[in-house]
Amino acid sequence: MNIPFLNLSPAHLSIATEMQTAFKSVYDNNWFILGERVKQFEKEYAEFNRTRFAIGTSNGLDALTLCLLSLGIKEGDEVIVPSNTFIASVLAVSFTRATPVFVEPDTRTYNLDPSRLVDAINDRTKVIMPVHLYGQACEMHEIMKIAGDNALFVIEDNAQAHGSSFDGKLTGSWGHINATSFYPGKNLGALGDGGAITTDDEVFAAAAKKLQNYGSAAKYQHEIMGFNMRLDEMQAAFLSVKLQNLEKWTAERKKIASWYDENLSKIGDLILPFIHPKSDHVFHLYVVRTSKRDELRKHLKDKGIGTLVHYPIPPHLQKAYEHLGYAKGDFPIAEELAQSSLSLPLWPGMTEQHVEYIAAQIKSYFEAHN
Ligand SMILES: *Cc1c(COP(=O)(O)O)cnc(C)c1O
Repeated sequence: MNIPFLNLSPAHLSIATEMQTAFKSVYDNNWFILGERVKQFEKEYAEFNRTRFAIGTSNGLDALTLCLLSLGIKEGDEVIVPSNTFIASVLAVSFTRATPVFVEPDTRTYNLDPSRLVDAINDRTKVIMPVHLYGQACEMHEIMKIAGDNALFVIEDNAQAHGSSFDGKLTGSWGHINATSFYPGKNLGALGDGGAITTDDEVFAAAAKKLQNYGSAAKYQHEIMGFNMRLDEMQAAFLSVKLQNLEKWTAERKKIASWYDENLSKIGDLILPFIHPKSDHVFHLYVVRTSKRDELRKHLKDKGIGTLVHYPIPPHLQKAYEHLGYAKGDFPIAEELAQSSLSLPLWPGMTEQHVEYIAAQIKSYFEAHN
């Protein structure tokens, strides 16, 4: 059997007609930037996320950057990010010339550990950026409480967790202003790059909107030096179609995760995903851990099963962040996760037979290597 890590084809086949109609409507309309389709999608996404505002952006990295700039984050400020996040969370901080400060995750959920936050906060700290990693919501009550006690902003990086929630409240609706990504492989993905900002705050929303469009609220009047970081009409039209199917696809992801849970229990030293009792997990990724990660990965590849590692090098050890002066051992939890984590295939359209085949190959690996 051949099971790729990601296969968008089943999901896309199921909506092919609507997607072609969406394409045709934008094509025939001949209006491609900041028009009705973006407005419509922003309205739909705000409703979906239960926030007053949603603003389409060029991608997730730009959405994060716009969030930080809308709050006035600048050189000399510090922004707390998880030590085990995707590099984009950190890059956005650097683009504002603020300093990223890494805080280690909880060893069970892999999400920012609220009990470690206070030690990282000082006079320069301005923002906490929780990342709902792999699709599981962070412990938002505690994070919001600590932020409130210290007069800090919260920006959620919701790129991996569309539709997830903590204690019943949706991710992307907790922070002061929040970012998400519609990279094609995300739970809600465009047919190219895209992202969004969500917020209940009128002032932050207006600031982000201005910054993303050349610093301009009225055409050819530029109040600030802005960017071009917009979502386009074509992607917005595609995203409107896909948003209508997101709940169904999320239910499928959860089902596939439950098949993995059933088939992978008590195998070797394999650690399965742990879900915090108040967190929803929309399974952007199904990540297991083992001390034999690289060997298992090779074994699965030989059996036709694609896997990935999210992420093999933590941000503080990346060459791009050499200047921060960190060394191996500075964030041991993130470093251990980078050594042991393995993401198994998970995409709408996967069947129980796929999962059983993958589980059988994992079992046979551990039986031969005990
Ligand atoms: C994908 C991702 C981003 C960046 O999104 P892009 O649209 O690819 O720029 C940021 N943060 C996290 C956690 C992500 O997974």
